[in-house]
Amino acid sequence: MRSYETSVPSYGDAMEFEACGECGATGRWGTCEQLFHVLLALDHERRQPWAAYHSVNVACYLLQHPSLASREVLAGQWSIVAIFVDEGLEAVHTLTARAVRRNNCRASGRAEIVGRPAPQAVRPVGATIEDVSVDGSFPATGYEGRIRLWADATATARAS
Ligand SMILES: [Zn+2]
Repeated sequence: MRSYETSVPSYGDAMEFEACGECGATGRWGTCEQLFHVLLALDHERRQPWAAYHSVNVACYLLQHPSLASREVLAGQWSIVAIFVDEGLEAVHTLTARAVRRNNCRASGRAEIVGRPAPQAVRPVGATIEDVSVDGSFPATGYEGRIRLWADATATARAS
């Protein structure tokens, strides 16, 4: 890939990145999958502000890339996004803690959150994981606000 210093802008430049066929991200900081792995690594370090939003991140990512999950799984993820948008992060933590307790009782090993019907196809226009990443690094400053934009965009895409 050419560096920005030496490149001469032309109409062909946009073709250097492969846009995501599901969420529409441009791919300029890597594929959505690569960005998701960067984000998961931050979540799993249990550092804030990232860790608190882990379940919301996963839900937004899967709903914006519905080919990666079954309808059943997407229904559960949709509940997380809807509750986050409507009631906030604490309500999400209550929901996921309850689901973990239920799973522990059953020992089924399967995450299960009883879901609202999932969207057939989500085509976000407002914000993607690329926007949350800012420059591919998911900086802490403004992170919470960007997650809210991502969740709002995911919820709006479902309604349209
Ligand atoms: Zn994507």
